Amino acid sequence: MGMAVVDPLIELRDVNKYYGELHVLQDINLTVGKGEVVVVIGPSGSGKSTLCRTINRLETIKSGSITLDGQPLPEEGKALAKLRAEVGMVFQSFNLFAHKTVLQNISLAQVKVRGRKKDQADQRSRQLLDRVGLADQADKYPAQLSGGQQQRVAIARALAMEPKALLFDEPTSALDPEMINEVLEVMQQLAREGMTMIVVTHEMGFARSAANRVVFMADGRIVEDRAPDDFFTHPDSERAKDFLSKIL
Ligand code: ADP
Ligand code: MG
Repeated sequence: MGMAVVDPLIELRDVNKYYGELHVLQDINLTVGKGEVVVVIGPSGSGKSTLCRTINRLETIKSGSITLDGQPLPEEGKALAKLRAEVGMVFQSFNLFAHKTVLQNISLAQVKVRGRKKDQADQRSRQLLDRVGLADQADKYPAQLSGGQQQRVAIARALAMEPKALLFDEPTSALDPEMINEVLEVMQQLAREGMTMIVVTHEMGFARSAANRVVFMADGRIVEDRAPDDFFTHPDSERAKDFLSKIL
């Protein structure tokens, strides 16, 4: 059976990036099709966060190309702000505005970047809060919420921009164990609804159940890019075998 034909949304071709002498991304080639969920795993320091940050153009690259829907990533200005909205990012550390309410956190960029009227933005924010199970928390401040609730607000905030894709960089790593599932369930739901997602995570249950592909990185390279079942049952490389033996 061949791989399903994908309609590419995100394409990285021969991407190289350095931090000083450190060759942090080495000849990265990665295509993410529309509606695909790609889980990225690998040891600490292998370049997973940097990969996410280059796709969102929080980092520039030395060589190669990155395209979104066939278009090169914009360099600056309004187009760059639009890109950041179209490729939403959810971080380990929530990054909510502490002095704004939950509702304001979700509405703000809709008004500033998407140009929506405030009441339209608020209406959409309330719909999204309902979708992530937080309809009753709109007027609270982030510090009044649990970590799991804050992360669901961060996801709602990213969704409010109507992104073409979402990048998740270890979204559950900062959470107490009992809060991990409520966040993964929201992500599972998004995956089922066809959201294109790149997810850096150590949650192998999520990878097995939600991912179309697992990308294993080590030392700035993509070492394996496979269907989850293949990867977990027959990892090819010694690096992946070693990594899996430590985390499973
Ligand atoms: P991962 O997310 O897989 O743990 P990172 O992408 O965060 O890996 O980091 C890859 C490598 O790049 C690491 O060696 C890290 O120390 C280094 N690195 C990350 N960010 C910077 C930076 N801003 N400046 C210099 N080195 C960095
Ligand atoms: Mg990281």
